[in-house]
Amino acid sequence: MSWTVAAEELCRYGRSIFDRGLTHGATGNLSQRLADGFLMTPTGANLGQLDPGGLARLDSEGRHVAGPPPTKEALLHLAMYRRRAQAGAVVHLHATHSVALSALADLPADDLLPPLTAYYVMRVGRLPLVPYFRPGDPRLADAVAEQAGRHHAMLLANHGPVLAASTLAAAVDATEELEETARLFLMLRGQRLRLLSEAQVADLRATFPPP
Ligand SMILES: [Zn+2]
Repeated sequence: MSWTVAAEELCRYGRSIFDRGLTHGATGNLSQRLADGFLMTPTGANLGQLDPGGLARLDSEGRHVAGPPPTKEALLHLAMYRRRAQAGAVVHLHATHSVALSALADLPADDLLPPLTAYYVMRVGRLPLVPYFRPGDPRLADAVAEQAGRHHAMLLANHGPVLAASTLAAAVDATEELEETARLFLMLRGQRLRLLSEAQVADLRATFPPP
């Protein structure tokens, strides 16, 4: 994919995400891996107002080479790419229900959500919690890197989700699946649940590999 096509795609998805309230204000950041570097949303950007000519370009080593400076959260995107060779895009949003989930005590930190639906298992699968560090702290990127070898989806404590996939479309799709499942989980809290069984989850995992 060319830089121009990737930039247009990033802006199109950014607007769609913002217009549907999946992140607010100047929060959230998107990136794509190209053959010779990375394209990222700039620091302080509103995802609804991205300009294809105003995105940050980084080289394959993650050094800023053109455009405005990248998002303050660039390090966590790069941590995902370094550990996941097949990742073509990373999405990080402050989506409300996912952030609510990230602030709940007493959930299992190695996998926060139960298997409520088939699509959650297929697109997200497992969701570990990454311990809290302030945005931009290099220790946050280290903590993401620690999970990224095994997981394409994770939730930063008291902050929001980070998801990688082979394409931007798949990464956005998985992020939306997580947000809707977090919403369902909050709706269902305190009620007795009929979850997918271990055999049903295993069957989904064998049939549909993670994005
Ligand atoms: Zn953030």
